[in-house]
Amino acid sequence: MKNLTSIQSSTSHPVRLAALKQSFQEWGAAQDTLTRLSKRLSTTLCLETQLGILAEEVAAIIPFDAMNYRHRIARREFVFATGVGGPHRCEYRLTLEGRQYGTLSFHRRQKFSEEELAGFEMLIATVICPLRNACRFVEIEQAALTDSLTGIGNKRAMEEALIGASSLAERHGAPWSLILCDLDYFKQINDNHGHVVGDHILARAAEQIERSLRTSDNVYRFGGEEFAVLLPHTGEQAARDVAERIRLAVGTMHVDAGDERVCVSTSCGVATYLNGEDHEHWVARADEALYRAKAHGRNCTRVFATIA
Ligand code: GH3
Ligand code: MG
Ligand code: MG
Repeated sequence: MKNLTSIQSSTSHPVRLAALKQSFQEWGAAQDTLTRLSKRLSTTLCLETQLGILAEEVAAIIPFDAMNYRHRIARREFVFATGVGGPHRCEYRLTLEGRQYGTLSFHRRQKFSEEELAGFEMLIATVICPLRNACRFVEIEQAALTDSLTGIGNKRAMEEALIGASSLAERHGAPWSLILCDLDYFKQINDNHGHVVGDHILARAAEQIERSLRTSDNVYRFGGEEFAVLLPHTGEQAARDVAERIRLAVGTMHVDAGDERVCVSTSCGVATYLNGEDHEHWVARADEALYRAKAHGRNCTRVFATIA
């Protein structure tokens, strides 16, 4: 009871409350660029939206032909570009508390004046904290979709990608294929060489799979020793060829464990998206093909054939 009284008496300060009311009204009515920019940036954590807002607000004060931003976040290059550049450029490396938050540049046909350069610096000082927050948000989002052992997409990322792929395949009619790879007798590798070697092989296998793909293809680790590859614009026969390339790439790698060379093989199951099916059905067909590859003796590829 005593505490509550002391809190009330220390917070109910009429002069301060009146000042708060006045500054709130002024803040609500403020039309100046920096207040408006801060308010707009505080409405979103989306880095792309924030950069769009920044470009709009800067353009209203300092005309430019192009604004570019790039930042490597986790393993991905985030790029934002608006307009077409001119020969004159000013570039800022965004840094806060010793950490880098990307490079922002403005381009124009005419040279930027000293006043304009000072203006950029004031605007950047205003946006650096919200941009830092948006970069961190991208990092957290990426971490939630990344497998920490191999650095590739995880099961959640795979689910999202499959849902997106089925709707794209449905809309555009282009073929999409899915390959499921399951390393063979992996339990024995762990049992014989230990989990550290097992983990190392998993990371190397992910690298080998990635290296066997085009940049538009995506690989995910969706289970312990299970990988999935999603191939846009790829029909059954081409997907089988990719699966075979993966199988050979994984099969030729080796890891040194003491005096021994440890090798591994993989079995692959392929299924090409069928119009009208949901993504679970698609995965189930690829899994059925994988099951057949295992049943056939492993270290081979089977396709859930849809073409007669
Ligand atoms: P199959 O050829 O039938 O696929 O046999 P398998 O031994 O690969 O399959 P099984 O499902 O019996 O065993 C999978 C093994 O994968 C068991 C588990 O120890 C191992 N594993 C799963 N996740 C990890 C991991 O993160 N690290 C390591 N080192 N091993 C893992
Ligand atoms: Mg398995
Ligand atoms: Mg296995």
